[in-house]
Amino acid sequence: MAAVIKSQKQFTIPRERRAVLAASAGTRLCRAFAWPAFLCLFLLCPVFVFSAESRALVKFLDESGVELSWEPYLETGRLSFGYQTVSFRVGEPWILLDSEGKIPCEALRKTGGTLLIPETTEKVLREIFFPPRPEGPRIGAIFIDPGHGGKDPGTIGRHTSGEKTLTVSEKDIVLDTALILGGMLKKRFADKQIVFSRTTDVYLTLEERPERAHAVKLQEGEAIIFVSIHANASLNPKARGYEVWYLPSSYRRDLLTEKDVEADNREILPIMNVMLEEEFTQESILLAQNILKGFDACVGSLSENRGLKDESWFVVRKARMPSVLVEIGFVTNPDEAKLLCDRNHLQKIAQAIYTGIDNFVRQFEGKGVFVP
Ligand SMILES: [Zn+2]
Repeated sequence: MAAVIKSQKQFTIPRERRAVLAASAGTRLCRAFAWPAFLCLFLLCPVFVFSAESRALVKFLDESGVELSWEPYLETGRLSFGYQTVSFRVGEPWILLDSEGKIPCEALRKTGGTLLIPETTEKVLREIFFPPRPEGPRIGAIFIDPGHGGKDPGTIGRHTSGEKTLTVSEKDIVLDTALILGGMLKKRFADKQIVFSRTTDVYLTLEERPERAHAVKLQEGEAIIFVSIHANASLNPKARGYEVWYLPSSYRRDLLTEKDVEADNREILPIMNVMLEEEFTQESILLAQNILKGFDACVGSLSENRGLKDESWFVVRKARMPSVLVEIGFVTNPDEAKLLCDRNHLQKIAQAIYTGIDNFVRQFEGKGVFVP
């Protein structure tokens, strides 16, 4: 079975070998030993030259976040990051890219238990895993807002079966989901800030949530998206399913205030706000659609798609950025409540939101336009 290697300990460069090489090159040789020493250096030369142009693969993994699955008997490996996977075999002058087949390059080698990657091959891998980003806006931060917390439990489902009572608290399941989601996003987007409104069971007012998102520092040309996570309740115990909300375009927010614009531009402030509102709405719809598709793919067979909805939720309304509110399921439905108590199910829900965000980011950054 292939093992995922993240630890540098498994592939350390043998220090003693480097010491021997350095000593060989620097030692003044007496005449009697000159010839054998020359032979020795000649034999070691390719290793020495190779070492200068290669480095331990594990260093590349540590720096880049790329993961390696290593098959020691076949001496083959699979490198993966995000959607890309590349396979290789020690000593073979190519790498295998899932989508494009073999790409010729210098072979990876193994010396004394250490996998070495040539500089030129590392360059090819970097181009595959981290292609240059097209000019244009990018998502600099993803803000995750697990609803409720502390003294506000959100909605609560209680279901009695025989002597057992199952209690599901919204504030707990949305926090668990948010933390799993955050872990996935951090792994996927090392170059983006993943920020939470809360990571523990604390109370936050509705105002504090968007305020925290607005306080996130962004670079020029960067945008932030806001994803609020909630669970649903209904008087009808049969009601079940997931839904994603965004702000209706009919609702006008004061997106820019007089402080935000030059004095000359104040008269066009309302127009600028309409334009910005329209853009945020389009982006929010695109984000919501992607998340809903993620749910269909990850939990569609277990729950029900209740669709895309628009509503001027306070927490979304106050966020001056593309923002959505995700309802992950009904705690009042006995079957869904059971699912929502299962960490495996929350993992699937987190995967659904992650897939949606990931697709949205690729559309946003790839095209630089926001029309769905
Ligand atoms: Zn809620």
